[in-house]
Amino acid sequence: MIITSAKPLEEILALLKDEDYIFIIGCNVCAAKLKTGGEPEVLEMCKQLEKSGKHVVGWALPTAACSIRSFDSLVQKNEKITEARCILVMGCGSGVSTVASVTEVPVFGSNETLSLGGSSGGKLLSDQCIMCGKCTIGEFGGLCPKAQCPKGLLNGPCGGVVDGMCEVNRENDCVWTLIYNRLKKINRLDLLYTIHAPQEHGLK
Ligand code: SF4
Ligand code: SF4
Repeated sequence: MIITSAKPLEEILALLKDEDYIFIIGCNVCAAKLKTGGEPEVLEMCKQLEKSGKHVVGWALPTAACSIRSFDSLVQKNEKITEARCILVMGCGSGVSTVASVTEVPVFGSNETLSLGGSSGGKLLSDQCIMCGKCTIGEFGGLCPKAQCPKGLLNGPCGGVVDGMCEVNRENDCVWTLIYNRLKKINRLDLLYTIHAPQEHGLK
C-alpha cells in the first residue's frame, strides 16, 4: 500500500490559485484506506474548495487513480470531467502522473506520497514516483523530474540533453523536454519560472 498524507488546505489552495472549474479524482484503494482520497475526503474537499470560492464541476472515485488507462474511462465515471479546466487528484504521485498522461488540462495532487509502507500487491510505478515525501509534481505538469530525471534535476535540463533525449538513458526522452511540452500544451509555461530549492531528504 502506498502511504500518503494530506497536504494542508492552504497549500492546495496555493497550488490552485490560478485555476478554477476543478474536477476531483479520488482513489478507492490506498488513499481511501488512509483517509486521504476516499469518498468522504473527496466530498469534504468539494465543500472546502467551494467555500474558498472555487467551482467544482464534479468528482469521480476510480478503483485506483494509478490504474486509470484512458480519458474515456474517466468520462464513463462522470462526464462532467469534460467541463474541467483543472483536475485535483487525491491519490499518490503515481496517480497524479497517470491522470496527467490521459488528460489535457493542468493536474495537481492534494497529497504527499511518503513510502511504500511494506509491500505492494500491484505493479509499482517507480518511474512515475519515488515517494519522496514532498510532492511537487503539480508544478511540473504532472511529470516528476525526481522520478524521471536520473540526476533528479528540479530546475530544467542539464547540458547533456541531445535532441530531446537523455544523456544518461539515451533511449529515453529527457523528462525536461516532456515537462516543457506538457506545460506548453496546458498553457502553464509560467510554472517554469519557479526556482525550486533542493529537496530535503533528512529525517525530520
Ligand atoms: S514529487 Fe515526484 S517522487 Fe515526490 S511524491 Fe510527488 S510524484 Fe512522487
Ligand atoms: S538529459 Fe534530461 S533527463 Fe537526462 S539527466 Fe539531463 S536533465 Fe535529466
